Amino acid sequence: MKSIYVTRVFVDLKGPALKLFSLLAMLSLGMVAFSEPAKIQGLRVSSKPDSARLVFDLSKAADHRLFMLSDPNRMVLDVEGAALLKDITATNFNHLPIKKCRTAKKENNVIRVVFDLNSPLKAKSFLLPKNDQGISRLVIDLDYKKKLAPQKKVAASIEAVQNVKRDLIIAIDAGHGGEDPGAVGVNRMHEKKVVYAISKKLANYFKARKGYKPVMVRSGDYFIPLAARRNIAKEKDADVFISIHADSFTKKRAHGASVYTLSTKGASSASAKFLAERENKADLVGGVSLADKDDILSSVLVDLSMTYKMESSVDVAEEVLVELGKVTSLHGSRVENAGFAVLKSLDIPSILVETGFMSNPREAKNLSSSRFQSKIAQAIFNGVDNYFKKKAPEDTYIASRFRHNRAVIYVVERGDTLSQIAMRYDVHLNRLMEFNRLQTKSLAIGQTLQIPINN
Ligand SMILES: [Zn+2]
Repeated sequence: MKSIYVTRVFVDLKGPALKLFSLLAMLSLGMVAFSEPAKIQGLRVSSKPDSARLVFDLSKAADHRLFMLSDPNRMVLDVEGAALLKDITATNFNHLPIKKCRTAKKENNVIRVVFDLNSPLKAKSFLLPKNDQGISRLVIDLDYKKKLAPQKKVAASIEAVQNVKRDLIIAIDAGHGGEDPGAVGVNRMHEKKVVYAISKKLANYFKARKGYKPVMVRSGDYFIPLAARRNIAKEKDADVFISIHADSFTKKRAHGASVYTLSTKGASSASAKFLAERENKADLVGGVSLADKDDILSSVLVDLSMTYKMESSVDVAEEVLVELGKVTSLHGSRVENAGFAVLKSLDIPSILVETGFMSNPREAKNLSSSRFQSKIAQAIFNGVDNYFKKKAPEDTYIASRFRHNRAVIYVVERGDTLSQIAMRYDVHLNRLMEFNRLQTKSLAIGQTLQIPINN
């Protein structure tokens, strides 16, 4: 439970002064009692696979209390000095472990909301300050994660025995989400929407190419704290972490894409520092403190074992920057670095791409167009692909394909077309035809093709 906007006054007064003070205190209390209630304007629900967020829209900040009761399992929210403007009992909790909710008006303008639960769960609540529509938000985050059996290791060893070349796992992190819109650009365009669209397209490019397996860190419009984003990438055993953002700046002139890597020693420029500070603010939305507790630990790790990973990060970043430069203007000609919390203590190559400035009218227009979003996604894909063609880990399909002089045998399946196969294996169609001495593009099921290596 968290209360914001509470001030405590300690006064040590005696005699007449005390009487006068008490009188003033009573008067001011009376004023509080008669002041406008915090109007509860509605309840919104957003859910992820194993957690959910309930958001009450309030006309102003209000103190509240959240607690759990068992037999039967209930979650109770008391909002002080409040009035209910809307019936919220018909709220649909579809996939959540909540059956329904009931409301009651208690003494002293306390509104009580009781959630009947299917099973016990963890919850935390906090207030978000007014958004640009002047709405305060009371947020309840629910966590009902099931413990998963550790089966991963077994699967990995079976793969090793069979000597199957593994896919490279690409963690794609669409910045912001849910209550955190990110930068708000011209035409009130939200960064979270733009970067999600680009991220989805990027995932599709990876999905279409053999040897890659994209993982979306955020797979919908919901909020994830920065540290949790890193953890998702780690849990998925990602080989690279790509965080996608769109900049904004007070000066409309500012334009161009940039690529950043983590720096623990300070930012490479004043604007990089400004940007990192702004992006790191995302965590305030989750009621999480910015100060990472494992700061000292992570800086030690960085010095010892992560130097290599940081160099790799710069390598990936440079490849991506080159490709971005082919489709959009660049903010600077080199890779920059700053203390981005989302990249911290990740021991895999990690980059943050700012795809352009939403505060720049021309770039905002571009960023909202699906065609431009595809171009950006394709460029990021090409950059990462170029990196892995040179530096993929030995046990991966991409490494076997691009670092050894060995043909790949492909057996044609129902529905395959030659141009699809060429695209999937990143071979020029003509070269694939020549290599297999094909006169026509027609294929037979079961036919074997040799996929050339040095294309
Ligand atoms: Zn951002």
